[in-house]
Amino acid sequence: MTCPFLSETRVRGCSAASCRKLLASPLVSATGERCGTLRHAECSVFQERGGSLEGGCPYLEDRLVQFCTAVPVPRYVPYSSPEVTPCGSEAFRYCEAYLAMAGAYHRGEEVAEGVAAVETLHYATNHMWLDIGGGGLCHVGIDQLLARFLGRVEHATLLTQRGVGKPTVVLTIQGVDWPLTFPKPLLMESADVRLRSNPAPITADPYGAGWLFSGWMPPGVSHEEMCRDLLHGRRAVAWMRLEAERLSEILGGALAPPVAGVAVAADGGSVAEGAAAHLMRDQLLGVLNRFFPSHVERAWE
Ligand code: SF4
Ligand code: SF4
Repeated sequence: MTCPFLSETRVRGCSAASCRKLLASPLVSATGERCGTLRHAECSVFQERGGSLEGGCPYLEDRLVQFCTAVPVPRYVPYSSPEVTPCGSEAFRYCEAYLAMAGAYHRGEEVAEGVAAVETLHYATNHMWLDIGGGGLCHVGIDQLLARFLGRVEHATLLTQRGVGKPTVVLTIQGVDWPLTFPKPLLMESADVRLRSNPAPITADPYGAGWLFSGWMPPGVSHEEMCRDLLHGRRAVAWMRLEAERLSEILGGALAPPVAGVAVAADGGSVAEGAAAHLMRDQLLGVLNRFFPSHVERAWE
């Protein structure tokens, strides 16, 4: 699947220029262009290289390019290799330009107020998700139940590493540093380092601009092995609904009354946005440890 904002056009370029330059396309006015006419003889590059004076310049080449229509200034994508860019693969879902135009690709099914579960994602029981693209490129983030509970993250430290490893982020909430490790290893490609200076998207858009890591399925690991012990499809939706109810009960029962009269949970499995901010430190640690543990080995049984 390619990005819906990826389009293609023909452009003309100069094969004699030291850097490949585009000369004209439907996006760039050809007014005054001399390369396709007898006036190419006036060009210093042509004069240096020499060639036929008949017709258009022999160094004028016509080729097909792809470009992004989501940005005001055309951004060309090499036609021969769109699959190595986000544009030619399902990684477009996490492209900044795509998200600015279309919003999060994954909408999901609402299981509680402000909490959606996405059937196409694979969830670990510490509320991190994995999206496996068609070409094997994966993305990892936190889910919307954790995002709603946290409301705001003060700081995010994305632990980057080379080679194969388990993606790990340290989220700072109410002065507490809470590490979260995705239980499956990836051949790491990148971390969304923009979140270090502005972690707001982690909780505001956890299935889109708040993605944390990208990487490939490790060599020799099959799709089936990658998904084993992770929650997917209707099972993930049912699990998330239960988790929202459980968290709501905990917040509304044992924890909420002593917390300055602030309602952090409501009937029907709802969790108040930013409920974490209203908990005492030991209460916060208790909820994090119970629902969002740093490490999980297994998922659903
Ligand atoms: S006239 Fe020929 S050599 Fe000069 S810029 Fe155009 S294509 Fe290139
Ligand atoms: S740059 Fe982003 S929005 Fe534009 S075509 Fe590529 S993936 Fe799509």
